[in-house]
Amino acid sequence: MDQSVILQLNGLTKQFAKQSPPALDHITLALKMGDLLGLLGPSGCGKTTLLRLIAGFERPQQGTIELAGRRVCGEGMWVPPERRDVGVVFQDYALFPHLTVMENVAFGLKPLARRGKLATGQVKEEAQRAIALVGLAGFETRYPHELSGGQQQRVALARALAPRPSLVLLDEPFSNLDVQVRLYLRQEVREILRSVSASGVFVTHDQEEALSISDWLAVMRQGQIEQVGTPEDIYRSPQTRFVAGFVTQANFVAAQRVNTHWETALGNFPALASTNFTQGELMVRQEDLQLQADGHGAWIVRDRQFLGREYRYTLTSANGQTLYARTDADTRLDLNETVVATVTGDRPTVFPLGLA
Ligand code: ADP
Ligand code: MG
Repeated sequence: MDQSVILQLNGLTKQFAKQSPPALDHITLALKMGDLLGLLGPSGCGKTTLLRLIAGFERPQQGTIELAGRRVCGEGMWVPPERRDVGVVFQDYALFPHLTVMENVAFGLKPLARRGKLATGQVKEEAQRAIALVGLAGFETRYPHELSGGQQQRVALARALAPRPSLVLLDEPFSNLDVQVRLYLRQEVREILRSVSASGVFVTHDQEEALSISDWLAVMRQGQIEQVGTPEDIYRSPQTRFVAGFVTQANFVAAQRVNTHWETALGNFPALASTNFTQGELMVRQEDLQLQADGHGAWIVRDRQFLGREYRYTLTSANGQTLYARTDADTRLDLNETVVATVTGDRPTVFPLGLA
């Protein structure tokens, strides 16, 4: 076993009921020590179930889990959650309302103290360290209801980090927070995990969040991992139509192959020699469209949003197709203006039609 691998999943399968499809279907995945893995996918695809299996709150029907080279689940092996050296942060904070910040964080250390791994006198010291780590020094005697949502989630993080776990699991930790708080907290969490050299698995259904904080990204769909890669890889080279749609929020335009090229409403594009299908969908990222006012153009400006650094346009064609485009802030077009839309880049991706 490679010592630098913190988490190794092999063929992990979980089915809650015989008649329903598996919530997780043969998941195989490895995470290197110190890295942050984003799990991205639509609601119901199995993200929470996967975290619960790693944490030890659920048992799989099949497959194995290894943490830092130690088998914790599978083939007759079962290590209970409190002995897995894993910290968990849930979406809904899950703090004890009748306990102070200090008491909530110290609670996470009790299993260690019980097993004699931490002297009683050290519990407070370690809790204090974790509270300071998340920027809440001075709030030790507050109760959860005396804190903002963002602060409560910091307490939950401190509680998870207090025992110094080697892996931290975070299940949509910011989804209940305001956009503002969420934006800075997610950056901070990444820095905090780095500063203590913890590895992390971070669940989200927000593609921007996943792209911005992950070292590695796994895109899930219906209990399976559809693609794993760096955020850049996945954004630039989605392997399937599903990943392309979910991660890049690109436009998809009908494409018909005629010999060596694709014909589309946005012009013709060369087809790869290996292409073995004739009906396709051209992927066009919103930022890969260039717009030019032109009375003979095929597209009409229906909506314009000014986003500071860029404009976001909604365009429609005479036959009712819709396109979304992001342009620089100098491309200012009027509503109902007729434009020519051009795709930049020379060989755009075409996915087979019907293979969503
Ligand atoms: P996500 O977190 O990606 O939204 P979940 O892991 O919560 O998805 O759920 C995956 C699938 O498993 C869903 O179909 C869900 O209904 C089902 N599921 C999750 N937990 C249970 C459970 N305790 N009992 C039965 N079905 C469950
Ligand atoms: Mg979930």
